[in-house]
Amino acid sequence: MTARPRSAAPCLPRQIHVFVRDWLSSNQILLRSDDGNVLIDSGYAKHVPLTLALVASRTGLDGDLLSLVVNTHGHSDHIGGNAALQRAYGCPIAMPEGEAALVDEWDERALLLGYAGQRAERFAVDIRLAVGTTHRWGDLDWQVIGAPGHDMRAVVFYSAAQRILVSGDALWRDGFGFVMPPDMDPEALPAVRATLDVLAGLDIATVIPGHGEPFTDVGAALERAYARVARLEADPSRMARHAVKVILTFALLDRERLSLDELPDFIDRVPLFADFNARYLHMTTPTLAAWLVDELSRSGAARVDGGVLLPRPGR
Ligand SMILES: [Zn+2]
Repeated sequence: MTARPRSAAPCLPRQIHVFVRDWLSSNQILLRSDDGNVLIDSGYAKHVPLTLALVASRTGLDGDLLSLVVNTHGHSDHIGGNAALQRAYGCPIAMPEGEAALVDEWDERALLLGYAGQRAERFAVDIRLAVGTTHRWGDLDWQVIGAPGHDMRAVVFYSAAQRILVSGDALWRDGFGFVMPPDMDPEALPAVRATLDVLAGLDIATVIPGHGEPFTDVGAALERAYARVARLEADPSRMARHAVKVILTFALLDRERLSLDELPDFIDRVPLFADFNARYLHMTTPTLAAWLVDELSRSGAARVDGGVLLPRPGR
């Protein structure tokens, strides 16, 4: 007798194509329709050629191209392909309205770009998505639901007819995106819990997350997310430790290598490390660098080879 899989593979409507990417680039969700193809989230700047190739592989088959790019939120791994897609297809870009204001000003701190050692090509927002509105994409009606927490201006998209949630970084199969610790934003963690309460009140059969495979065991994912919230509430410094590890992992995936010699300089150049270190970690830069190398090696996010920190494949 063969073992049962943990959960059935989600069966998505045929107009929904999910490009599952690695952890540097968010997933892309293509919603195909005769009325125009819509792409939700666009990956990291480094991966623009692959993003363009993936989109091209599923559009243009009948001469129809991309008519709209939509973002769940404004982080570098979700907006990095926006400018290139807009150039390639001449299509408008839609963002949550709170995020659009930051993109208009290209606020690199609030968008966690230069401030966090991240990058994205600047683009213009054409359409502002208000919470509570509904949009017809891929022949389905999608409700825009506010999902603050990981990003205070984020939204998720919900199809009640298909019971599908496009969750961005608000809910993954195992957790959610990093959360700003209370000294940086006292509203962030309470917002994560409130957002989970909203999602728990929806009738969801399938979640298409911003990272990882789509999943159907939604109740178990919510339980894990609530347990994580409880752990963070009990020890807010855990959020700071987690955030600096995530930020360094992203930088490493982008750069592909960081020599141990240059790591302290890199840490000194990225303001987020200094802010989190001053408030929570209280280490010298070399000690922080050594601690990060140790933590990333232990978790499997990176490895050291010949004095160079390298990302693990598949992360
Ligand atoms: Zn994010």
